[in-house]
Amino acid sequence: MTSSNTRLDDFDPAKFHDELVRHKLIIPVGVPGAFGRNHVFEDVLARFDDAVTRVARDDGAEKMLFPPILNRKVLQDSEFLDSFPQLAGTVFSFFGTEAHHLELQSCLHEDKPWAHLQGMTDVVLIPAACYPVYPSFTGVVPADGRLVDMQNWVFRHEPSPEPTRMQAFRVREFVRVGTPDMVVTWRDMWLQRGVDLLRALELPAQADVATDPFFGRGGRMLAKGQKDQKLKFEVLIPVISREKPTAVCSFNYHQDHFGKIFGIKLPSGEVAHTACLGFGLERVVMALFKTHGFVPSQWPKTVREQLWP
Ligand code: ZN
Repeated sequence: MTSSNTRLDDFDPAKFHDELVRHKLIIPVGVPGAFGRNHVFEDVLARFDDAVTRVARDDGAEKMLFPPILNRKVLQDSEFLDSFPQLAGTVFSFFGTEAHHLELQSCLHEDKPWAHLQGMTDVVLIPAACYPVYPSFTGVVPADGRLVDMQNWVFRHEPSPEPTRMQAFRVREFVRVGTPDMVVTWRDMWLQRGVDLLRALELPAQADVATDPFFGRGGRMLAKGQKDQKLKFEVLIPVISREKPTAVCSFNYHQDHFGKIFGIKLPSGEVAHTACLGFGLERVVMALFKTHGFVPSQWPKTVREQLWP
């Protein structure tokens, strides 16, 4: 028995969500922006991740793995909360006495607020895939800089029923440290690689200058500066909208921001510059389902040859 390969020809976030659920690719858990993934979804995700590995094979990156939590001090020091207070997730836990525990239980069972019975821990959820790595660079980097390869779970507090806007998702991320020239050349090389890789999967990918969702009125100025200096690029694919395509890959040049904060130096004594790039793995998978249909065994042969080499 073969299931037919439904393909949505129009762009409709609700319909796309419902089709992902109907094909059991995602499993709702009762909170917008959070869901399970089935084995088919995970297989495609792992295969795309492997395709990225093949592109990066000869780069000599150091592989690292971090847990989905970050030292709260690193979040504070890196100024994430100055720019994006609305997106961060701080972990709270119970520090009380037995009396507090009794109070907690009665609140829980009577469905009353219980946040006042919890206190802030030393950890936050990872707000961007590369944040755990910068403190590990403190000191003098080698003359040819550093290059790190990671896959991390990221938390963003932006609950939405729209399936490509998730509260938790995985990013395949590379981080480069070095002179301004080294990191910009590397970023530009990956911008081309990213577009080439996605187009080889017959996805209508386009690169564009982008801005981060900085908070508030002051944030608009930061976004303008970021755009004018071309510090952020994204690769976009129409998934839930033709007019507002979805960013599946983002490239950020931080200049000396992290170098200054975490004391990362070049052998010359100057502050090192950093850049990162990340593939939003779930979003790439969703772009594949949107473009080629919900049944991967029936995707075009050329696409399958890339992912099932
Ligand atoms: Zn990053």
